[in-house]
Amino acid sequence: MKNLITGGAGFIGSHLAEALLNRGDKVHIIDNLSTGSLSNIDRLTKNQNFSYTIGTIMNEKVVNKLIQDCDCIYHLAAAVGVKLIMEKPLETIETNVKGTEMVLRIANKYKKKVLITSTSEIYGNHVQHKLKEDDNRVLGPIKKWRWAYASSKTVDEFLALAYHIEKKLPVVIVRLFNTVGPRQTGAYGMVLPNFVQSALLGKPITIYGDGKQTRSFAYVKDVVKAMVELMGSPKTAGDVFNIGSEEEISINDLAKKIKKMVNSSSDIIRISYKEAYGKGFEDMRRRTPDVSKIKKLIGYKPSVTLDEIITKVIDYFKR
Ligand code: UDP
Repeated sequence: MKNLITGGAGFIGSHLAEALLNRGDKVHIIDNLSTGSLSNIDRLTKNQNFSYTIGTIMNEKVVNKLIQDCDCIYHLAAAVGVKLIMEKPLETIETNVKGTEMVLRIANKYKKKVLITSTSEIYGNHVQHKLKEDDNRVLGPIKKWRWAYASSKTVDEFLALAYHIEKKLPVVIVRLFNTVGPRQTGAYGMVLPNFVQSALLGKPITIYGDGKQTRSFAYVKDVVKAMVELMGSPKTAGDVFNIGSEEEISINDLAKKIKKMVNSSSDIIRISYKEAYGKGFEDMRRRTPDVSKIKKLIGYKPSVTLDEIITKVIDYFKR
């Protein structure tokens, strides 16, 4: 099997490449290194089944050739991270919408199965506990820039489903909830690597808002395993799946837990969302997936607890 991964030098993409190589597949990645990095794929380059292109997915000629040469496509290339979205809404919308439209259009030309990575952001600021794939979306006002990301990814989902319905293109959509593990950088605002790095350096662990907001953190290796199984299943075409963890924790408790596990002298401090992200930000109070759909289809079960994930992330940053 020859897999193409767009955004393959990113945190999740590089773990996905590794998982596919480990089962003997061929992998080609394309990445513009905007948020990904060569160090993420360093060890993969020694594998003869691995090859890569450094470049943008906006280059139609290049993408056409790569799609023609592969058996299936994992489309992960996107503008990600709340910080980036707040700072560069235009780039976010263009990359996410134009990039995905082109990948789908070319995949359709050669009729190759595509997995589109969407996001839990598309549920919006729901307070409902476990979010199901068919739940309504509750998005905030246009002037809250955060929702530009959710909206761009929503267009991606509609486009993918439209290609499936009208052109019979095999597509599967995954909505990734907060995904964490080694190689994730704190540079784009993600909370868990930020807290671990601050705790290790003895710098203040900085909570945005009141810290009562909750998240559920899934281990990246469990997430990519589910993605590979969904791609391989003939029953997934034209469907949407949540992937994440159902173990919910408040950001306050996460900060305390990490401080304790690192045995850190860091202070835990709070700043306002405005100080953290600038004007026009709105947070989600709660965000946990209902994963019964993938449990039923592929027997999805997280293999590690949050404590075990944090231990792995601490070890990674210590190294
Ligand atoms: N957050 C925080 N401190 C940080 C980074 C993030 O308190 O240094 C908060 C953020 O406001 C949000 C939660 O942690 O409520 C998760 O943020 P992240 O950017 O990791 O993911 P997302 O908001 O996309 O779930």
